[in-house]
Amino acid sequence: MPLTDAHCHLQAPELAGVLPEVWKCDITRWVVNGLHPSDWPQVAALARSQPRVRPCFGLHPWYLKDRPATWLEELEGIVSEHPGCGLGEFGLDRWMQDADVADQLSVFKAHWHLGLQRDLPMTVHCLKAWGALQEALEAMPLPQRGFLLHAYGGPVEMVAGLVRRGAYFSFSTSFLAANRSAKRAAFQQMPLDRVLIETDAPSMAPPSECNAFPMTDPATGRTVNHPANLRAAAASLAELRGVPALELEGILEDNFHRWWGRDRRGIV
Ligand SMILES: [Zn+2]
Repeated sequence: MPLTDAHCHLQAPELAGVLPEVWKCDITRWVVNGLHPSDWPQVAALARSQPRVRPCFGLHPWYLKDRPATWLEELEGIVSEHPGCGLGEFGLDRWMQDADVADQLSVFKAHWHLGLQRDLPMTVHCLKAWGALQEALEAMPLPQRGFLLHAYGGPVEMVAGLVRRGAYFSFSTSFLAANRSAKRAAFQQMPLDRVLIETDAPSMAPPSECNAFPMTDPATGRTVNHPANLRAAAASLAELRGVPALELEGILEDNFHRWWGRDRRGIV
């Protein structure tokens, strides 16, 4: 059954050495998100070399302070050059140090309006900024195709409202950790037709007991999430929902196509 990693960063230098084996693993496609204008060319290059990569371009809230003044023109330009791309990742984050939420909101809205104007699939990052996200979504037009809240870690109580606004939610490999039961609880209750799965590789590795592809960055000593861990997220979500694995994978595939739309390049 085809399987899509709905959110990852295969352009990350930590993954460069394993990409040849990533292309051979049994994942059908990867939604690869840029973080800053400086890594957009790498995302574009990956999409050129590997047609199963779905490129997304965006400015992550952690990197707002060193953005060039021309970032929005650059974003519009790269999006125009890549028909069939998405926007991401961008979003709101009160978890980070020195969060400037007003600035985050202006960048969020700029992405959102571009996404609506060009009818692009959008991927939103939100950490501890659920009230601000809700207010922003109430004040803006909504994309007909919906949008993805990646690695949804918000309250269960917000899920119904977000579903009404068109949200899809991706289940992360990191949610397999024993202490992430609150995040798993939200995924237990979501409508199954709004769920996707992701690795966020090279970040958000599963706990070591579920990590079949252990990998460490020799430069930092940190654990690197191998993209092949996606299968563990699929298996865990199937168990959580009490749905046979193959049936769940079929649902995930339908959800991906409903959100992303038909690939304009005519590739899987
Ligand atoms: Zn990410």
